[in-house]
Amino acid sequence: MNVHDSEKMLGILGNNGYVAAGKPEDADVIIFNTCAIREKAEQKFFSQLGRTKQLKKKNHNLTIAVAGCVAQSEQETVRKRAPHVDVMLGPQNIGRISDMVSGQASNGSFDENHELAYEELFVTRSSRIKAWISIMYGCNNFCSYCIVPYTRGREVSRPSSSIVSEVLRLRGQGYREITLLGQNVNSYKSDCDFTELLRLIDKTEIERMRFVTSHPRDLSLELIRTMQELPSVCEHVHLPLQAGSDNILRMMNRGYTYGEYQKKVDMLREAVPDIAITTDIITGFPGETRQDFEQTVYALNGIEYDGIFAFKYSPRKGTTAFDMENTVPDEEKSERLNRVLQIQEEITYKKNRKLEGTTQEVLIEGSSDTDTALLSGRTRTNKIVTLPDSGDEIGSFVSVLISKARRHSLSGEKC
Ligand code: SF4
Repeated sequence: MNVHDSEKMLGILGNNGYVAAGKPEDADVIIFNTCAIREKAEQKFFSQLGRTKQLKKKNHNLTIAVAGCVAQSEQETVRKRAPHVDVMLGPQNIGRISDMVSGQASNGSFDENHELAYEELFVTRSSRIKAWISIMYGCNNFCSYCIVPYTRGREVSRPSSSIVSEVLRLRGQGYREITLLGQNVNSYKSDCDFTELLRLIDKTEIERMRFVTSHPRDLSLELIRTMQELPSVCEHVHLPLQAGSDNILRMMNRGYTYGEYQKKVDMLREAVPDIAITTDIITGFPGETRQDFEQTVYALNGIEYDGIFAFKYSPRKGTTAFDMENTVPDEEKSERLNRVLQIQEEITYKKNRKLEGTTQEVLIEGSSDTDTALLSGRTRTNKIVTLPDSGDEIGSFVSVLISKARRHSLSGEKC
């Protein structure tokens, strides 16, 4: 979400005559697009922000802007800790970035802005092949650990016609894959619902379509059938579980039990047999006992995800969980996190090994980060594949025979 917000700010600034500077020392404007989801990200931001004080002493015309969720939730702290910041704006006000850095608008903008969903913002995308598309903003769920509903406001969906025109435009420019973005895409609701939106986009004949993030409670049978039916929808779903214990899920206000979640996974796998399922896990939520944690381990072993994003619980001021008692010591949180990661490493490797000898459609994205003699791309299930460079163009689809599985990627040869 933040990466795409940065692309939008770049687009708006570019349209107003700004060009990207090669390094901070050369810049007239430095914008921090911040994430408040965990304390660590916030700390990193504050330490980077501190360094810009020196740059400002050297260049008196330098404008420092802070955008994103930390700007929204920690306005006072930012002002106190970094008085050299000139401009602050919350995630719902990114459309005003150009006016703000040029001094044509006030230096703080934090309004709940539902107009964001109706504005056609300029975007400078980092890829020529794959594109993010916002379909809705905000969240109504108020999971007890999460700051997002307080920083990004209530859910508001973009009209389907505006989304479809963006897809058509991208298709015309040669994009091959889109990812629909929203905090909870399953609750998309404008002139149509989410499944209808998928149908409309499928008609544009874009080759690949993905979406993030799906809330397990709102993942309907109708959506599963739509995924099965539409050729453009890739065989991958990110379905955040967060914890395996019903007690913890209730305390997190997630709105489902592990049993209900598991049934949805079964339904997905029955409808789309080779679907890849990934998830998010939080370890050490307040009140999480050893037995509760074992339920998460049980879930990982039972479901066998293709990949996970796991983190230690990070208390966020202003959320309900922040005031909960029975907090888990940091050491214990880390120990549980390491165990989760170790278990998953083996599962991911085992699942990747099952793909050896199969043929996969790979969308070539560019040179491999680790070896520039190799090309790198992704399967429809979102797995990274490297292959020898045989002159295939970036952005082409190639059939690859998978010869070797690694823990975090696959390699093979064109067939
Ligand atoms: S669904 Fe829950 S975790 Fe996701 S953004 Fe909304 S409140 Fe946060």
